[in-house]
Amino acid sequence: MGEDGFREQFEAIADLIGRYERFLILGHIDPDGDCIGSMFAMARFLEGLGKQVRCYAPGETAAVYKRLGAASLLSRREELPDFDHEAVFTLDSPTPARTSDLIEPNDGQLVVNIDHHPTNEQYGKINVVEGATSATAVLVYRLLSFIDPERIDEEIAGYLYLGIMMDTGGFRFQNTDSEALTCAAELVERGARPHDLAQEFLFMKGYDSLKLLGRSLGSLELHCDGRLAVMVVTQSMLSGSGGSMNDTEGFVDYPASIESIELCALFREIGESEVRVSLRSRGEYDVSGLADRYGGGGHRNAAGLTIHDDLRTAKSRIIEDLAVLLRPCGDSVREEE
Ligand code: 5GP
Ligand code: MN
Repeated sequence: MGEDGFREQFEAIADLIGRYERFLILGHIDPDGDCIGSMFAMARFLEGLGKQVRCYAPGETAAVYKRLGAASLLSRREELPDFDHEAVFTLDSPTPARTSDLIEPNDGQLVVNIDHHPTNEQYGKINVVEGATSATAVLVYRLLSFIDPERIDEEIAGYLYLGIMMDTGGFRFQNTDSEALTCAAELVERGARPHDLAQEFLFMKGYDSLKLLGRSLGSLELHCDGRLAVMVVTQSMLSGSGGSMNDTEGFVDYPASIESIELCALFREIGESEVRVSLRSRGEYDVSGLADRYGGGGHRNAAGLTIHDDLRTAKSRIIEDLAVLLRPCGDSVREEE
């Protein structure tokens, strides 16, 4: 691999950056750490080249990410038409729809699509897509290193490190490979601070968030002989704890940590007829196909989807689907509720 695999694309992107002045950087709905880190690194790098930049991701951006310096570049949807961008970067977003209504397939815009989801639809004018890469931030790092490594300052290095750290679960998930670790080491040499970033984004939690986690943990259930765990976050848990849905990034790691499981799901009740589902799996079990069938997507071991129905219905449908997924690889399915 290395940057040579994308030499042609990187040269085309460098050329495009040289030709235009105003860049819009789009992330996916409810951006996670990889999305935010990639966007902010790209934004600051372009600013360093004297370009004008705006960032936008639909949905909710968690409060921890809004405290970052480059968060001042995050715009509201209604401000963007005035910006009148000339080119768009989409980061960590497998389909245009994940980013907003600002781009459509084949709408003639100059779109640079940088992503590590295997399901990416290659919808850009230029596509830097590699499903086997641990984080979008790794691809952005390769691009920026190709264009001008000396411009990766302490702030940019921190954003890229944040992206890799969050998408590898602090260098613990299955996607943690030598490239992720090598990039991280190089970013530390450029000024990223691993301890500070781990403290702020992985370790420290708000009091309300922990109270909410406590309630959510109370809902844990095992199915299929302990091989499937499910957990929920409901609207009434939110109002009872003072926490918000924004505080739930990482909650899915708790059911995922149960020793006996192969699969797990976290259900977040967004409204009476909207449920966000996060799926996680171990080893060869692939949850991305299931997410895809519901219009979602993701990776083999981590995927997500939305169901427009009530929580009870969403839960029973997904539990049934996950039980089927377990079946070919092992014993008969038996519910333990
Ligand atoms: P999470 O469960 O943390 O929200 O998402 C897990 C993974 O699945 C992430 O890589 C995320 O980008 C992807 N993912 C989550 N929801 C969706 C979705 O609705 N559509 C697509 N295409 N990918 C998703
Ligand atoms: Mn990612």
